[in-house]
Amino acid sequence: MTRQELANLIFPNAKDISYYEEKYPERNLPEGAVVTRFAPSPTGFVHIGALEQCIVETALIKQTNGKLILRIEDTDQKRKVENGVQGIIDSMRDFDIIFDEGMISETESSGDYGPYIQTQRKEIYEAYAKYLIEIDRAYPCFATEEELAELRKTQEAENCTTIGYYGKWAKYRELPIEEAAEKIKAGEKFVVRFKSMGEEGQRITHKDMVKGKVEMPVNVMDIVIIKGDGLPTYHFAHAVDDHLMHTTHVIRSSEWFPSVPLHLELFRALGFKAPKYCHYAPMLKEDVKTDEEGNVILNADGEPAKFKRKISKRKDPEAAVSFYHQAGIPKESVKEYLMTVANSDFEMWRKNNADKDLYEFPFSLKKMSTTEGALFDMDKLNDVSKNVIATFSAEKVYEDAYEWAARYDEVLKSMLDDREYSVKVLGIERGAEIKKKRKDIGRWSEVRDYISYMYDDQFYGKDIVFDYQLIKDKETLSKIFDEYMKIYDPADDNSEWFNKLKDVAEKVGYAREVKIWKQAKDEWPGHVGDISTAVRVALTGRSNTPDLCQIMQVMGVERVKARLAYALEQL
Ligand code: GLU
Repeated sequence: MTRQELANLIFPNAKDISYYEEKYPERNLPEGAVVTRFAPSPTGFVHIGALEQCIVETALIKQTNGKLILRIEDTDQKRKVENGVQGIIDSMRDFDIIFDEGMISETESSGDYGPYIQTQRKEIYEAYAKYLIEIDRAYPCFATEEELAELRKTQEAENCTTIGYYGKWAKYRELPIEEAAEKIKAGEKFVVRFKSMGEEGQRITHKDMVKGKVEMPVNVMDIVIIKGDGLPTYHFAHAVDDHLMHTTHVIRSSEWFPSVPLHLELFRALGFKAPKYCHYAPMLKEDVKTDEEGNVILNADGEPAKFKRKISKRKDPEAAVSFYHQAGIPKESVKEYLMTVANSDFEMWRKNNADKDLYEFPFSLKKMSTTEGALFDMDKLNDVSKNVIATFSAEKVYEDAYEWAARYDEVLKSMLDDREYSVKVLGIERGAEIKKKRKDIGRWSEVRDYISYMYDDQFYGKDIVFDYQLIKDKETLSKIFDEYMKIYDPADDNSEWFNKLKDVAEKVGYAREVKIWKQAKDEWPGHVGDISTAVRVALTGRSNTPDLCQIMQVMGVERVKARLAYALEQL
């Protein structure tokens, strides 16, 4: 019996690999074009790290006119959830991640290199597994669970440094072909294993696009390539798929890094050119150490002891990309933040290129963190988000806040239902012509609090504490407001507006300018700033607000008058 015959016995219907090599020819792309892929399991859950990966991939394919593929890795059937593929596509689309090729819905795909879902590629894996058997780089293995457990025990008892199915321990590696064929014919269960040529102690040098040159031990394991259920393992499918899809760059989290020697050996054995590997460090989170009972452990200074760990799907709501949508953090902010995580010089670039598209940034894999992942920092994200929202037009802030409120905040929605007024409210200190832009809003969930005083429903009858600071007596306040209303004109520009406040200050015996007051503090009860504070507090109930002149213009004269009167009533 020949190897060929054994291979035929195992995979009687498999095609010759030349069929697939011809079916999926080289891509016709410009020199240097990056072809890469996002290859999740269809669990429906999308991790924030996966979004970072897709942003990085998008940056690379935009720089090089390449292609981004969505491939679904569903060979572990246990992890599958209903509509998991659609969930991934939708989550990514929420952040403007568009795949050039691959799955476009739960069941459909687009592109010439499919199928893009691994369970539908079974015959392809069979062809390549068959080929490996023919060239003596794979074999059927009949080891039972018990046998494997036994092997492990023996290796442990002998203090082997490497535990597993390899070398002299790989019992079925040298099983004569005839015997193997007999077992198969007799219906014995088997898997197909790769026959590794690596030997313990050998090392390879490998160049990772992120980590640089690294020396690693070679692979020695005869790993399973086709499982008992006929489906491939991740490792084998990775080699076959990324070869046939002509992936140039495999960008993935560094938890896969130790598998590189195995993957390189698989690629070599199959006669494939290996892709460039890019292993980025997963994002970390700072956590507090606890003992077994959950009590916080203190360090020598009596502070809670901290440590860094990966962001976890189980413990951290912010691990899921869906979290950001609910929290009202705009997609633009999340993308912007993740780019700072990916390349720390992005922030500097952004300072000098405020109006450019995120993807115009010269992102580079080499600038990604090599060893330890960046710390996920919610405060930083909030700051980034404030800067991002500051660049939005009033209409965009309105539309996005409204969309969020319609789902998550009824009160805010009812405020924003008055579109015309709300766009003006949100336009205060906002717009291309404004130099010092308003930077208070980081999330849509904060909008309600920041603008509520502008809405009569949210202002009258609420428990507002009017803290007038210096000027507290009703008589003076009344006089200030009266004098002011005599001369106030909503058509005034900012400096005219302030001049009028100065006039009022003078009229009621306060210093027109802070400067004058400073020269002779004892001579004045206060200055123009105290007058504007009185007006601000009366109109808004707050001592800290955006530009008061603009606030008054948006409120309109009638509302201003009514509020001043109301404020006096409250005294
Ligand atoms: N299915 C693998 C995962 O979800 C893909 C890893 C890779 O990109 O190769 O981790």
